[in-house]
Amino acid sequence: MNRRSVALGVAVLAVVSLVCGGTVGLPLVMFGLAQAEAAACEVPSLPGPSPIPGAGAWGSAETTNAATIVAVGRQRQVPPRGYVIALATAMQESTLRNLANATVPESLTLPHEGVGRDHDSVGLFQQRPGWGSVRERMTPTYAAGKFYEALLRVDGWQRMRLTDAAQAVQRSGYPEEYQKWEDDAEQLAARVLGLPNIGDIGGGAPTAPCGTDDLGPVPVGPGGWVQPIRATIVSPFGQRGGRLHAGVDMSKADVRGDAIRAASTGVVEQVKCDWYTTCDRDGNTSQRGCGWYVDIRHPGDIVTRYCHMIQRPEVSIGQRVTAGTVIGFVGNSGGSSGPHLHFEVHLNVPPGPYHANGGNAVDPEPWMRARGVPLGTRS
Ligand SMILES: [Zn+2]
Repeated sequence: MNRRSVALGVAVLAVVSLVCGGTVGLPLVMFGLAQAEAAACEVPSLPGPSPIPGAGAWGSAETTNAATIVAVGRQRQVPPRGYVIALATAMQESTLRNLANATVPESLTLPHEGVGRDHDSVGLFQQRPGWGSVRERMTPTYAAGKFYEALLRVDGWQRMRLTDAAQAVQRSGYPEEYQKWEDDAEQLAARVLGLPNIGDIGGGAPTAPCGTDDLGPVPVGPGGWVQPIRATIVSPFGQRGGRLHAGVDMSKADVRGDAIRAASTGVVEQVKCDWYTTCDRDGNTSQRGCGWYVDIRHPGDIVTRYCHMIQRPEVSIGQRVTAGTVIGFVGNSGGSSGPHLHFEVHLNVPPGPYHANGGNAVDPEPWMRARGVPLGTRS
C-alpha cells in the first residue's frame, strides 16, 4: 500500500453510478439502541484450554498462540490489519512460541515452549522488561495486548508497510525482517478465524465504539447522529459538469485509513465493490463509481452511503449498526482521485437496495447541521 498525501481542495470525481442487476429483498428490522450496542460489542472468546490443531506449517502450539493473538485483537476492536501485523511480528520474534530466556532464571520456571537468549527478552513478542514483569510478558494474552496497545499508538499504522508498523512497536535491530512474514501472517489469521481468505474478514470484523479508546470517543448529536469522519468538505453536493454530485467529499491530510462511522442507527443494506476490478487498490478519475461502499438504512426511509473505502468494509449486509459503529476505513477505491469519503444522504427511499439514487439524494451538509452534528473538523 503506497503512502500518499492528500491535496486539499482537489477536485475529486466520485460519480455515484450504481448499475447493478438483481434485487435483494431485505427484512428491515429496527430495534433499540441498547440492543444494537450489545450486538456490536459481543466479545469474541479466547481459545479454550485444549490446544487447537496445527495449520499449514505451524504446529498446534504455534497455531494456538496465533489464535490467542487474533482473539485479543478482536476483543480490543483492533482492525484486522492489526492481527496480521501482530502475527508477523511474533513469527519473526519467536516463531510463535512462548519463549523463556536462558539468562532470565525466572522465565525458566514458567510454562514455555522454547528457550531463547536474546538480551532479557521473553515471550511471543520477545518483550524486554519495560513491557511488564517476566510472568506478564510470558502470558500470551498480556503480551499480545501490550503489542496492540503500542501499535495503535503509532500514527498511521494501517497505512504503513507491515515491517514499518511492526518496527515502530518493536524497535528491532533488524527492521526489515518482519516483512517476509506478511503472507504467512495473512494466511494464518484467516485460518484461525475460519475464513478462506483474510479478505473475507469483512462481516466478522470488529465494530466500535464499545468502550474502546483505540478509535476515540465519538460525539453523538441530540438527534442520534454522528459525523462519519471528522474532515473538511473539499467538494460540496450539487451539479458538477452536467451531472449531480450526489454527496459531499470529505478529506484532510493523512485521512487514508481513518475510521468511517455509521452516521446513525440502522441496518446495513448494501456492502459492495462498485467497481470490482480495482476495489482493493487506488482508483482514479477515469473510473466511475463508489469503489468499496456501504449503504445503511435508518428509520424513516433514510439511507446513508459511504464510498471509496480502502478495503472490504467492516460490516455485512443485514448487520445492525448504531451511531458511531466503525463500518470501514477511508480509501481511494473506484472513481476517486485521492483518499476521501464521499458521503450521501437519501430521503424517502423505497424499501430494498438500489433505491438510493440522485433523485432522492439531499445535501448532507444542512441535513447533518440540523441534526446537531455539522460536518467538518470542528465538533
Ligand atoms: Zn464525491
